[in-house]
Amino acid sequence: MFKPRKGKNVNLFVCGPTVYDYSHLGHARTYVAFDCFVKYLKQAGHKVFYLQNITDLDDKIIARAREKGVGPKDLALAFEKEYLKDMKALGVSSVSKYARATAHIKEIISQTARLIKKGCAYEIKEDGIYFDISKFRNYGKLAGRTALDAEDSVTRIDYSSKKRNRGDFCIWKFKQQEEEPSWKSLFGEGRPGWHIEDTAITEKFFGPQYDIHGGGRDLLFPHHEAEVSIMESISGKSPLVRYWMHTGSLTVGGQKMSKSLGNFILLNDFLKRWQANYLRFFVAKNLWHSPVDFSESVMIEVKSAVNKVEEFLRKVKTQKSKAKNSSATAKKIKDFKNNFYAELADDFNTPKAFAVMFDFIKDTNKLLEKEKISKKEAVEIYKFFEEINKIFGFIDFKKVNKVIPAKIKKLAQDREKFRQNKEWDKADHARKEIEKQGYTVEDTSSGPVVKSL
Ligand SMILES: [Zn+2]
Repeated sequence: MFKPRKGKNVNLFVCGPTVYDYSHLGHARTYVAFDCFVKYLKQAGHKVFYLQNITDLDDKIIARAREKGVGPKDLALAFEKEYLKDMKALGVSSVSKYARATAHIKEIISQTARLIKKGCAYEIKEDGIYFDISKFRNYGKLAGRTALDAEDSVTRIDYSSKKRNRGDFCIWKFKQQEEEPSWKSLFGEGRPGWHIEDTAITEKFFGPQYDIHGGGRDLLFPHHEAEVSIMESISGKSPLVRYWMHTGSLTVGGQKMSKSLGNFILLNDFLKRWQANYLRFFVAKNLWHSPVDFSESVMIEVKSAVNKVEEFLRKVKTQKSKAKNSSATAKKIKDFKNNFYAELADDFNTPKAFAVMFDFIKDTNKLLEKEKISKKEAVEIYKFFEEINKIFGFIDFKKVNKVIPAKIKKLAQDREKFRQNKEWDKADHARKEIEKQGYTVEDTSSGPVVKSL
C-alpha cells in the first residue's frame, strides 16, 4: 500500500522536457498519466507537491540553436512556451512548480563541490568534473546493473578517454566554446551535466529524500541510476525516493516513433485531428507502466467509448421518469464508487477502474430505458462522473449539456410523422437536414432520440 514519508503529504518529482523541439505523443503519454495520478492522489486526500524540471540548457539545445542561428537561451525559452501551451491544451494542470535548470546553477555547483570534497568526483583537465561510479557501492541497484556494464550510459557530454570507469558521467562541463552559456565556479567555468540538474532541484525543494520519482521508462538507466548515485553519495541517506514510477513506452503503428519512418507525431498535429479529451482517455484506459501502441483505429475506438459515456450522461441528465428511489440501485451506485476507487488504489489500475465504469453504464442504461432511475439517483450518478472527470478529464460536459435547438427537435418530429405516413423520401430529407446541422437522430425502442454528432 502506498505510504508517503510524512502523513498525507506527497512530494513527487517527474523529469520534465529538454526544450529544443516541439512535444510529441510520447511526452503526452507520460505527462497525462502523471496528471491523472496526481489528481487522483488529491482526490484521495493527499496534499501533493508536484515538481517538474525543465532542461533549458544541454548539448541538444546548443546544437539546435547553432543550426538555427539563434541563441541557446532564446531557443529554450521559445520551446518551453510551446511545451506549456501543449500541456494546457491537454488539460495538464497539476504541476505545482516548473523549475528551470539554469535557475538552479548555485545548487548544482554546491552539489558538485560536495561530491569533489567527498572524493566521489574528479577532474579531467580541459574537459570537466566526472562522477566516479566505483565510489558508490550501490551503483546499479535501481536498474539492476553493475558498473561494468554501464558503458551504454555514455552520451556525447560524458565521453572522455581519460575517465576512470567507462560509466562515469559528467556533472560539470568546462567551457569549450565562446558562444556556450557558462557560469563561474571554484572548480572552473562551465555548465552543468544533465543528471545533477534533477538532484540539485529536488534537494532544494524536498531535501535529500522524497516520496515519488517519475519519468518515462527510457530514463531508468542511466539517468535515474545516476541521480540515486549522486544524491545518496552526498547525503549518505538511502533511499533517495520511496517509489519509482516509470511510464511505459509509446509506439505508433507497432513501431518506435521516428522521423525517418514517418510515424513521428507531434502533439500540435495530433490536436488538429483529435480532441484533447480523447487523448486523455487513450492514456488513462491503459496501465501507466505498460507499453501502448497508438493508431488511427485505436483512436476511433476511443472516440466511440468517450461518446458512449457522454451519451449515457446526457440520458441521465435529461431523464424525466417518476421512479422512486430503490435500495437495489442505491447499492449499485455505492458498489460502483467503491470498486472504481479500489482499482485506482491498487497501483493506479485505470483499465480495471474503467471496466467497472463501463459495466455500470451498461447496467444503468437498461434501467434508464425502463425508466427505473429516480431523479435523486440520476443526480448522484451525474455527480460521480463529474468527480471522475476531475481526475481523468476525458468527458466533454459542454457536449453532454448541449441543448438540442427547437428547430432540430421540430425536424425530428416532422421526420417521425413522415415515417409514420410512409413518406420515406421526405423522412430521409429531414434526417439529412438534421445531420447538416451537426445532429443525428437514432430510432430506439422508446422512439427517436436526437444526439449531437
Ligand atoms: Zn530527469
